[in-house]
Amino acid sequence: MADVNQQGKQKKNKEELKLENRKKGRGKRFCQICGARDGLIRAYNLYICRRCFRECAYDLGFKKYS
Ligand SMILES: [Zn+2]
Repeated sequence: MADVNQQGKQKKNKEELKLENRKKGRGKRFCQICGARDGLIRAYNLYICRRCFRECAYDLGFKKYS
């Protein structure tokens, strides 16, 4: 019984560490639509990723000039 409890504790600690690491650096910011953490656009306080930006850019008032 004691061994099982210890294993559970160790696993929990590992998960907590992972969450702490996520809070630091780029992991803090994520896409407001899909939650992606890469390709994020922070300009104009958009805070959405490039993929979601492509889909809703026109609705936001962005137009293609090419
Ligand atoms: Zn997104």
